[in-house]
Amino acid sequence: MDGIALTGGCACGAVRYRLAREPMFTHCCHCTQCQQLSGSAFAINIIIENDSIEVLSGDIITTDGPSESGRPHIIHRCASCQTAVWSDYGGRPNYRFVRVGTLDRPHAIKPDAHIFVRSKVPWVIIPPDQKAFDIFYVLEEEWPADKLERRRRAIGG
Ligand SMILES: [Zn+2]
Ligand SMILES: [Zn+2]
Repeated sequence: MDGIALTGGCACGAVRYRLAREPMFTHCCHCTQCQQLSGSAFAINIIIENDSIEVLSGDIITTDGPSESGRPHIIHRCASCQTAVWSDYGGRPNYRFVRVGTLDRPHAIKPDAHIFVRSKVPWVIIPPDQKAFDIFYVLEEEWPADKLERRRRAIGG
């Protein structure tokens, strides 16, 4: 994936975006909220700094989403077709969760971790070479050092 610019957009084509860096981390989330919001079995999200998302065209609106933690969850959508393109979770607006399904080449992305596997639908079988966690994981144990450093810089810590 390195060296290949990740581009994507909404269903109507008005919003187009480009990710300027490789993702920090990618979740496949099996929580019930992702199931409800996507109308599917799970959601795949790239975690990346705000300033690494370049909006190339289109207008973006935001809506309030549900939140398991009780902290804010703001969903960013195309103003025309309302496709959700990314979210701000947990009141940390300096990095975002980009919906992998909106990429032009979503199959180029493999999840780094499956989370909330406790509510996974039984017919989804996680490949044995992919990490799976009942709820969540310890960040320092799963993220590579350079990605942890990027995250630290993104949150200003
Ligand atoms: Zn659209
Ligand atoms: Zn989820």
